[in-house]
Amino acid sequence: MRKSDLRPVKFQFARRPGVVHDGQVQIVDAIVNVPRQRARARVLVPTMGALHKGHEELIRVARERAGRDGEVVVSIFVNPLQFEPGGDYERYPRPEREDEEFCRKLDVDLLFRPSVAEMYPENSSVFVDEALLSSVLEGKSRPGHFRGVCTVVAKLFNILQPNAAIFGQKDFQQLAIIRRMVRDLNFKIDIAAVPTVREEDGLACSSRNAYLNAEERKQAAVLRKALRAAKDSGKKSAKEIVDLARQAISGAPLARIDYVDVVDAESLQSIESVKPNSLLAVAVYFGKTRLIDNILLP
Ligand code: AMP
Repeated sequence: MRKSDLRPVKFQFARRPGVVHDGQVQIVDAIVNVPRQRARARVLVPTMGALHKGHEELIRVARERAGRDGEVVVSIFVNPLQFEPGGDYERYPRPEREDEEFCRKLDVDLLFRPSVAEMYPENSSVFVDEALLSSVLEGKSRPGHFRGVCTVVAKLFNILQPNAAIFGQKDFQQLAIIRRMVRDLNFKIDIAAVPTVREEDGLACSSRNAYLNAEERKQAAVLRKALRAAKDSGKKSAKEIVDLARQAISGAPLARIDYVDVVDAESLQSIESVKPNSLLAVAVYFGKTRLIDNILLP
């Protein structure tokens, strides 16, 4: 047993409903120590840590939904299953202490940080596969990614038993796939979406922004500008919109486009002309760092 596994005991009774929130967060690193739901509502924010303004907004929405008497749970788990071989799993930032402090400041009730060994025991052989929405965009570029995402989110849902979970629209496809999983596997969990939180120059907040060097960081602002320009053009043809976005992104010499696509925001299938509820989605490399962003059309 790790030292941190003992910590929850200390705070076990400090967060009962009705008790004034005092900036303490119960930290649980072992599944066996996850407390039963004590409040009327438990709202989960699943993350991979390196918490930033985007996560902050998810936590704020979680508190709004849970109410003062409800429980806000943040999970931090860098999920090896959703990284492709040769991806950035090893170098993904893991600032444990800062993340604890972040949760403390935001009055999070429970911080759940399971280990890889416990989440994926040797010989794990059951996985959750979404078979339709996962075949395009991110799923096409990153085979196996959404299998990893669905599997870990289903496990977190089972372990933590939340009434609701909050996801960001920055990962639009992930959100659509989680909604589909919840529907198809009959999880009794409300899924709420939060609009993308951005830096001042429009770059979507992301833990991966930390990988960018100064010049890459500066040029990465082109993504938002390209999405906006394509949207504001008012064009209906998907090809014209894609061309416009590609052209704008190519204005940044360090940008290397993975994909630019216009899709139906529900089915995520490519479309030829924009209709209500269409999505323009991009994935672009700056150096070794792959960034994604999207915008709803028209
Ligand atoms: P991550 O830690 O990157 O796996 O993200 C955890 C959750 O935060 C996911 O639901 C993301 O969609 C969401 N998220 C990440 N960045 C942002 C952002 N800039 N704005 C809104 N939500 C975000």
